[in-house]
Amino acid sequence: MLQDKDRIFTNLYGMHERTLAGAKARGHWDGTAGIIKKGRDWIIDQMKASGLRGRGGAGFPTGLKWSFMPKESDGRPAYLVINADESEPGTCKDREIMRHDPHTLIEGALIASFAMGANTAYIYIRGEFIREREALQAAIDEAYDAGLLGKNAAKSGWDFDLFLHHGAGAYICGEETALIESLEGKKGMPRMKPPFPAGAGLYGCPTTVNNVESIAVVPTILRRGPEWFAGFGRANNAGTKLFGISGHVNNPCVVEEAMSISFEELIEKHCGGIRGGWDNLKAVIPGGSSVPCVRAENMRDAIMDFDYLRGELGSGLGTAAVIVMDQSTDIIKAIWRLSKFYKHESCGQCTPCREGTGWMMRVMDRLVKGEADVEEIDMLWDVTKQVEGHTICALGDAAAWPIQGLINNFRDEIEDRIRVNKQGKVSIAAE
Ligand code: SF4
Repeated sequence: MLQDKDRIFTNLYGMHERTLAGAKARGHWDGTAGIIKKGRDWIIDQMKASGLRGRGGAGFPTGLKWSFMPKESDGRPAYLVINADESEPGTCKDREIMRHDPHTLIEGALIASFAMGANTAYIYIRGEFIREREALQAAIDEAYDAGLLGKNAAKSGWDFDLFLHHGAGAYICGEETALIESLEGKKGMPRMKPPFPAGAGLYGCPTTVNNVESIAVVPTILRRGPEWFAGFGRANNAGTKLFGISGHVNNPCVVEEAMSISFEELIEKHCGGIRGGWDNLKAVIPGGSSVPCVRAENMRDAIMDFDYLRGELGSGLGTAAVIVMDQSTDIIKAIWRLSKFYKHESCGQCTPCREGTGWMMRVMDRLVKGEADVEEIDMLWDVTKQVEGHTICALGDAAAWPIQGLINNFRDEIEDRIRVNKQGKVSIAAE
């Protein structure tokens, strides 16, 4: 289990002061100017060496992403955009950072922006996060008053402005190019890539979009050294990570743990076990609503990291939002609810997603009631395959994967329900 001395987020539960004084007492904003004075290349090399992979879901190496930004400006400004839109169902980790430990994010924003040659950064925060944006804005104001932001920020010699922008509650604005469109004041619709944001992002300028947690861990990694961070987790899955565990556990929680912790340890140590015991576990969605569910028997010994969940279980770590479902769950209905969500959140720009999400949801409607033919399960599978990989952004995949997980893992349950429904109809007709 991760020891307290190795926790990056020391005020995750709001037990201490979230103010600048409180943050400084916990070791934040310590030697920030010294870190910046070591230079862009040093920071990016350290981040690469730490093995940090993006915490927003895709798991792309953060240091490498930063290195895509131009070394020399061609006259255009560069931007860092921090994705605080946290809308993936089941995910509630960045919220804890912003409302209880906001200075980790602000200090990280300064260092990361410097490393990418950006004098300006934007935090795009989910519209529903009202208390969080108040806490974050108060922390930003405090940092300006203390000279940690603005001209010669934190006496580093780097001028840096940080703006907080409120979203309006669309899930799709968590997709980086839709977020950029929204930030520019347009409808939040994903852009075709290329060009990638590092070439032409916000206002057509070089931009990097990073998740809140990815940025908030940066100062501590640089202070304690990349070897320290890389010492947690298996190779290629380094570091500590915020896990958000919800559903049928005794104590749902958000907790910082070492990557590659086993599922069983995570649940036993932090969540007080599965409701009704391990035999009562039915399925787990290990990484937020877009990844396929996993059957109980495959989950108990699972290693909670990117490569294991993807490679061994065909699912994913995603945002590490672990949704636990016990035997009382109607798994078909649970996945139907996700289909309804993705149908609602599709921006409608590309046909496979616009039409496919509705189509899939309508078949799921009938599967929940068992009002379908068994052959339609394969037809639904084919539709998910026609949506997956054929859309502008990853929402198409996100809508397809939960259904694929359902069919792969619980096909027997879907077929049973169809049979029971048909038998019911036959017996009613016979009466
Ligand atoms: Fe919009 Fe869906 Fe296409 Fe993404 S995949 S651009 S959400 S229609």
